[in-house]
Amino acid sequence: MQPRTFAIPMPTTFRGITRREGMVLEGPAGWAEFSPFLDYDARESAPWLAAAIESAGREWPAPLRDRIPVNCTVPAVGPEQAAAIVARSGCGTAKVKVAERGQTLADDIARVEAVRDAIGPRGKVRVDANGGWSVDEAVSAVAALELAAHGLEYVEQPCASVEDLAVVRRRVGVPIAADESIRRADDPFRVVELEAADIAVLKVAPLGGVHASLRIAEQIGLPVVVSSAVDTSIGLAAGLALAAALPELPYACGLATTSLLDGDVVAAPLVPVDGFLPVGRQVLDLDAYSAVAADGETDARWQARLSAVRAVLA
Ligand SMILES: [Mg+2]
Repeated sequence: MQPRTFAIPMPTTFRGITRREGMVLEGPAGWAEFSPFLDYDARESAPWLAAAIESAGREWPAPLRDRIPVNCTVPAVGPEQAAAIVARSGCGTAKVKVAERGQTLADDIARVEAVRDAIGPRGKVRVDANGGWSVDEAVSAVAALELAAHGLEYVEQPCASVEDLAVVRRRVGVPIAADESIRRADDPFRVVELEAADIAVLKVAPLGGVHASLRIAEQIGLPVVVSSAVDTSIGLAAGLALAAALPELPYACGLATTSLLDGDVVAAPLVPVDGFLPVGRQVLDLDAYSAVAADGETDARWQARLSAVRAVLA
């Protein structure tokens, strides 16, 4: 069947985007998602296609658990909205975006304080800087945010480079999680070589699929947090399959991201219940899809993109 292109509006800007575009396709094993970010070229999009082909054509590894603990994600919004997101999610762990371009550390502190108030003293608060700080900025920001949060579970990608991550890790007491340093790196194992992180954030699509991600998890030897790339529920199901297959899962996963999208392609989008998401295949629903189907121009752009990435994989 011809892959179908979606374009889903986003209620809040995330990664600088306001609309999540991508394709869903069906194979003998089930539905799969292909949605590399628009700024990724064909070469960088190739593992995303490999992951989609795998999900459509091959069974995922046997699950070791049938539901996955998840965190809610708080974009770089004001404190009231941040508190509302946490309260509405029902999750016991919150990931807060910080170091957003155009904002200040005071904005981050206010957001993190509001999240702590909303989640309560037993909840876990982690922050994600998406590589937005220098080493010195990271060291002082982490100290300030740890105070504001009354303890941070970890800080994700405080700086852009692996080398800087390693330096920050030696200067702060809060555990460091590596995300972009694994996902967009030529060598994801450099994080281990430089002892730059305590935790590995793995995303199925950029790593080439569930099986490939499981192998990377084994080789990296760090605790893993499975996260989404702001996927539809079809893409999220692949992330849940990875989380379900990991021998150990000590942290809540970043897969409760359907709240970042105003629409989905399945009948019952994956929304956490008591902080958990169910493991299992998701199926396209034509009514849901028709509400977020891309216009002809967007679809043509994605069909061309798909051909270009196929050529890279071939
Ligand atoms: Mg991240």
